[in-house]
Amino acid sequence: MKIRILGGGPAGLYFAGLMKQHDPSHDIRVFERGPRDATWGFGVVFSDRALEFLRGDDEALYQLLTPHMETWQNITIVHNDTHIPIAGNGFTAIGRLEMLKLLYAHVEGLGVSIVFDTEITSLSQPELAGADLVVAANGAFSWVRSENEAKFGTSVDWRPNKFIWYGTSKPFDSLSLTFRDTPHGVFCAHHYRYNPGMSTFLVEVEEQTWKKAGFEQMSPEDTIRHCEQVFAKVLDGHPILSNNSYWRNFPAIWNERWSAGNVVLMGDALRTAHFSIGSGTRLAMEDAVALFKAFKEQPGVPQALARYQEIRQPPMKKIWNAANVSLRWYEHMDEHMKLDPVTFAYNYMTRTGRVDHAEVRKRDPGLAAAYEKLHPELAAAPG
Ligand SMILES: Cc1cc2nc3c(=O)[nH]c(=O)nc-3n(C[C@H](O)[C@H](O)[C@H](O)COP(=O)(O)OP(=O)(O)OC[C@H]3O[C@@H](n4cnc5c(N)ncnc54)[C@H](O)[C@@H]3O)c2cc1C
Repeated sequence: MKIRILGGGPAGLYFAGLMKQHDPSHDIRVFERGPRDATWGFGVVFSDRALEFLRGDDEALYQLLTPHMETWQNITIVHNDTHIPIAGNGFTAIGRLEMLKLLYAHVEGLGVSIVFDTEITSLSQPELAGADLVVAANGAFSWVRSENEAKFGTSVDWRPNKFIWYGTSKPFDSLSLTFRDTPHGVFCAHHYRYNPGMSTFLVEVEEQTWKKAGFEQMSPEDTIRHCEQVFAKVLDGHPILSNNSYWRNFPAIWNERWSAGNVVLMGDALRTAHFSIGSGTRLAMEDAVALFKAFKEQPGVPQALARYQEIRQPPMKKIWNAANVSLRWYEHMDEHMKLDPVTFAYNYMTRTGRVDHAEVRKRDPGLAAAYEKLHPELAAAPG
């Protein structure tokens, strides 16, 4: 099969690798508009089962990535100056660029050709001529999707909060969420170490806080200085670092139909999941596994594309729904910050409805007990 893939992110690369490994006679080419050694962002995080989902289909890749990852069992919620560690929340992180470089080497070793510095801007471009399958894995701003919204049944819901993806040289001990009251409103930082000397430091604020702080007119340097001042206590003298970092709004994207003809959407092009649940990269790679499995079951392109949506949509929609509940919690963080620190941390843990009191007790009996002291009606709850 002649397969052409737009986008050398986790989704496109991983799908290419799985298909080539299964059948080396496939002619697979990935087009990436960026250069080989540059990408946006810092580290990405994988929640709970981390890379376990890879193991069944790709033990070799699992073994390749795992030693490069930072792992921890706790998250820490920082409510102004009160630190509340919460046990039982496994997370793993890796630098985005490091992960992509490992994926480049892995798939090129299997015989996939990656063409860097090449932007595909039209489905009639010669690079795609004669393809049996065109995979649009070109990220959240995929033009393949946005120019064909009626065909895919696309909805894009722009959320009001503002966020900016920074890094810092401070290596944090656990995945942390720091919330600080300021005269302009609450600032939240999502921060975690992704290699021994670097952490991701993503700052998020409600829209009115962003306006009151004057970020609209502020230079990139002053924006960094402002955030450094707000988070001075957790940064401990370390600087905030930029990598093409700018304030954005999050688009919650969904598509009713995942393919049109021989063109199929995958990864963030297909759907975005808010970064607060740490699943965007995992979901992108799980899409790749699902499309690969659909082709194993149904070698015909139309049948395989139908099967892809059939097997992948139910589990994916559950996580997508949870992500959308989670992002709304942050849209009311100024209100939540009025809670005492323990109730705030508990409220955070149970925000998507997927963790109930019995589960909090199981994961962190200390937090459950502290919460029950403040809310005695729950002490008698089963579980
Ligand atoms: C601020 C922020 C924080 C995040 N934090 C996390 C996190 O902690 N954990 C996590 O798991 N996920 C996180 N994510 C999400 C994660 O980065 C994405 O979900 C994941 O990268 C999706 O993979 P993808 O392959 O679908 O798309 P992408 O990684 O976006 O890759 C798409 C690729 O396509 C290329 N491309 C685009 N257009 C073209 C074109 N026309 N021609 C050729 N190439 C093209 C791009 O250059 C890019 O390399 C975060 C995202 C954001 C924005």
